[in-house]
Amino acid sequence: MGRIILIVPKKKIVIIGGGAGGLELATRLGHKLGRSKKAQIILVDRNPSHLWKPLLHEVATGSLDDGVDALSYLAHARNHYFNFQFGSLTDIDREQCNITLADICDAQGDVLVGERKLSYDILVMALGSVSNDFATPGVKEHCIFLDNSQQAHHFHSQMLNLFLKYSATKAKKEKVNITIVGGGATGVELSAELHNAVKQLTSYGFEGLDHQALNVTLVEAGERILPVLPPRISLSAQQELVKLGVNVLTQTRVTRADREGLYTEDNQLIKGDLMVWAAGIKAPDFMKEIAGLETNRINQLVVEPTLQTTRDANIFAIGDCASCPQPTGVFVPPRAQSAHQMASHCYRNILALLAERGLKPYIYKDHGSLVSLSKFTTIGSLMGNLLRGSMMIEGRLARIFYISLYRMHQVALHGYIQTSLMMLVGGINRVIRPRLKLH
Ligand SMILES: Cc1cc2nc3c(=O)[nH]c(=O)nc-3n(C[C@H](O)[C@H](O)[C@H](O)COP(=O)(O)OP(=O)(O)OC[C@H]3O[C@@H](n4cnc5c(N)ncnc54)[C@H](O)[C@@H]3O)c2cc1C
Repeated sequence: MGRIILIVPKKKIVIIGGGAGGLELATRLGHKLGRSKKAQIILVDRNPSHLWKPLLHEVATGSLDDGVDALSYLAHARNHYFNFQFGSLTDIDREQCNITLADICDAQGDVLVGERKLSYDILVMALGSVSNDFATPGVKEHCIFLDNSQQAHHFHSQMLNLFLKYSATKAKKEKVNITIVGGGATGVELSAELHNAVKQLTSYGFEGLDHQALNVTLVEAGERILPVLPPRISLSAQQELVKLGVNVLTQTRVTRADREGLYTEDNQLIKGDLMVWAAGIKAPDFMKEIAGLETNRINQLVVEPTLQTTRDANIFAIGDCASCPQPTGVFVPPRAQSAHQMASHCYRNILALLAERGLKPYIYKDHGSLVSLSKFTTIGSLMGNLLRGSMMIEGRLARIFYISLYRMHQVALHGYIQTSLMMLVGGINRVIRPRLKLH
């Protein structure tokens, strides 16, 4: 009698969003399951290339050229045994186990690829977050958000235009007013980067442009900037910003924006030639109760501690788009280190699910938070909830720890040898390329 061969259908694991969490997950699953063809791994992203999001403020000021640093998904997928699909998720059909990807259009709006369906056995939502303007009137129209590279480029070209105009105007002159709403890491880091940009531009011949020309205002509704960090770190960061010439306004709530600037609760105008809104996040609006899944008030998918969504065990969510409870009653914060840890945990839980083993709960390990004040200094706390009291660090040592978060991401994607080579190329580029992107 012939032997019966049981053909187990190959599982299809689809990951939506190739950011800090999703790309690390796709890379690991590609090596573990894609290489041996035990499963098909498909990563979907609305952009053709990946840039680690915490670098966006450097792209905005030109300190970083993402043309050099961005990573092509297609090339990375080929080298790491997964498939990449260019597209933007719009819907999920949980009964049919498929997702819908929107039309892909060219710059003129002509459809290149029509709407498509993609089936899955396991789906991982890792599509991050967008800025939350809390429906403040005028913000969408007059402020720039720093959610993706396109927006960072838009800020960069507007900033260069303003400095060019300032530099070319002989009779001096109104300062360039740049106003940033939100005293979190993005707002604080961007304020310092702007001062570095002006310093560099002066050295590249932007006549008459010096730090006196720049008027940066950082507006925060709460009592202090960097509210998630210990008060002494907030204070120290604020002192450094003030030393640079940044105008820090705390306990100031913005109620509307127009062409002139931002208006506070008591109708004071804070002038802004260029305005950035970085005052909180939410998952994209189309995620609200998508496919009947449970979402919270900022559209994040509510997950079990195993990272599975509460209403569908075959759909996971990680990173900024997930609302993940912790035993202490708090939720995992939307940060790059959370996305990194969740990607590793989700990887192990997907393997457990496929092997029909029990899934483990994810516990967030806070290794501390660091904020870079451009070339001037770095400041922050180490160990977070790993030690009873956090440890404040500053300066060169803090800078090394700050950069190590990005290095961990690179190592997860490329391994140690390639990351070392990339560091070498980065070092060479710093010598042979301009310090600032000038166009
Ligand atoms: C300027 C700035 C500075 C920051 N600095 C720090 C810092 O110093 N430290 C820190 O810990 N965190 C920092 N953060 C936060 C950190 O970047 C995020 O917490 C982290 O990137 C979240 O990872 P993620 O994988 O959830 O999402 P992301 O890294 O945002 O990736 C989401 C991916 O999904 C894709 N996508 C979105 N929608 C769709 C769709 N509909 N279909 C297909 N693809 C889609 C996007 O193109 C993107 O590639 C910073 C954020 C910003 C904006």
